[in-house]
Amino acid sequence: MAERPGGAGAQLAVLRQRFLEQLPSRLRELEDLLAALRVDADAARHVQALTVAAHALTGTAMTYELAEVAAGAAAIEALCGRLAKGTGLPTLKPGFEAALGNLRAAIAALASLPAAAPVATAATPPAGAARRPLVYVLEDDAAFGSALVAQLDTYGYVARLFADRAALLSAVAVEPPAAIVADMVLPEGLHAGADIVRALPDALAGTMPIMFVSARGDLASRIEAVRAGAKAYILKPLDIGELVAALDNLTGAAAPLPFRILIVDDDAFSAAFHAAILESAGMVTASVTDPLEVMASLTNFDADLLLLDMYMPHFTGVELATAIRQHPAFASLPIVYLSSERDIDKQIGAIAVGADDFLVKPVVPDRLISSVSARAQRLRLLRGLVTQDPMTKLLNHGAFKERLKIELSRTARAHANLVVGLIDIDFFKRVNDTYGHPVGDTVIKSLARLLRQRFREGDLLARYGGEEFAVVLPDTALATAQVLMDRLRSSFAELIQWSGQEAFRVTLSCGLASFPAYPDLGTLVEAADQALYAAKRGGRNQVRQAAGEASAAAARTGD
Ligand code: GH3
Ligand code: MG
Ligand code: MG
Repeated sequence: MAERPGGAGAQLAVLRQRFLEQLPSRLRELEDLLAALRVDADAARHVQALTVAAHALTGTAMTYELAEVAAGAAAIEALCGRLAKGTGLPTLKPGFEAALGNLRAAIAALASLPAAAPVATAATPPAGAARRPLVYVLEDDAAFGSALVAQLDTYGYVARLFADRAALLSAVAVEPPAAIVADMVLPEGLHAGADIVRALPDALAGTMPIMFVSARGDLASRIEAVRAGAKAYILKPLDIGELVAALDNLTGAAAPLPFRILIVDDDAFSAAFHAAILESAGMVTASVTDPLEVMASLTNFDADLLLLDMYMPHFTGVELATAIRQHPAFASLPIVYLSSERDIDKQIGAIAVGADDFLVKPVVPDRLISSVSARAQRLRLLRGLVTQDPMTKLLNHGAFKERLKIELSRTARAHANLVVGLIDIDFFKRVNDTYGHPVGDTVIKSLARLLRQRFREGDLLARYGGEEFAVVLPDTALATAQVLMDRLRSSFAELIQWSGQEAFRVTLSCGLASFPAYPDLGTLVEAADQALYAAKRGGRNQVRQAAGEASAAAARTGD
């Protein structure tokens, strides 16, 4: 077996081994289908079933580089083609016998081979247990320093404050942090911050991300920071959002979400094989072997790209792609075919219905990864442009409603729960009036950042309007949502906002409503809005549930 890149090797070896073990039963399946043909020679249905089975075996055998098996299965597929075009079974019978004989021999030869040695795998990083990254802050202004540490904590970092270089350096030697945030101007001198880099242990110099915070915006100071290896230079008055964004980048906390690829292939082995390759490149996959389930899976899995086999029972890949394209929600979904079809005309025909690429099995893993990720990336970009609020990078109002609609139908089918929360910043007009619009913007961004940090990947987060946000928590009980939102509320109230001259705090109010107590999009959003209004009237800085929730709960316990 040829070498596979990355950490997929062992996984692929296992899949290949499982395929080898299944070969005898795949052979029996072909024999049975052929026997059925003899009984009922002109039944087009049987011819088609045999064609599909032989084709699938050809493709997968080629994928696993089992040339003899692939050749035997391909010969059967070719004979089926002649059958379909009208040549009688008696004429073709010797050909079928010979092809089956070759296939049997090929499979027997494989069975006598020793099991393949496991392929060496690249070390995989430990599964990402979400650790809070450690950040060291070097700041001689104790008040500013402890405010900064407190803010970093609310943004998911463990921050430790050091007042002087010596203390920082000895801590670095004991436990190196994920990043250092240092004041440039220290009592030791105007560029004293830069000197810590020179004093770092050799092993860390050049690799430790260091960012400087300074009141000095002059070029000389910036260059001093660059020379010291600074990865970012942030001016005081500090915009915590800017600092946290830079930290997220430097510590890898801002890693983009993995691409989600839906694989449709009636051959489970082939699907698992391609899934393993894509997962080795960090993508998330789901496989569907029954093409009838594709529509539901596309909605449930929220795919960035569809990888589609050409020949399957019931319909062809082309028919499936055409039907998917006619669905408005999937009009722009990238579709990549993966098939052992080598006929260029058929490949072109398949792409003509609106697919993006055609890869031939067996596919080179790198080619599969690059084709899929390039297309998924482009869709993300396009989708981002129409669905994202530019200031906060959260969903915009329209996209939120669309996604909530999909989420609601999924929740209804699964007989599950879902909570909608509407959030509005309290007395926001005062913030603008007192500190100016740009400072208002940083407050909005700080709430967006907090939301992104506090909620799960599957939750929907949106900027609903100017200083209004919306959150959807799928599969969440109302009581849980109440706790989560209340934590968000108190964290936001504790955030220290900075106007450039002075520190201030801002609060938020939130209204919650849940499905199925409110059974459709309109009533759900309306109920959450009413609850938000009640929270405002009730004094703000609080989370309220919709009025109907209590009676719905009472009705449930009354049963
Ligand atoms: P309440 O507690 O009742 O919600 O009072 P409020 O002042 O927050 O509510 P109101 O709806 O009266 O004011 C919201 C203000 O938000 C008005 C608008 O100028 C401001 N705003 C809307 N979008 C933005 C934005 O993108 N940036 C800034 N800085 N302000 C915005
Ligand atoms: Mg408002
Ligand atoms: Mg408001």
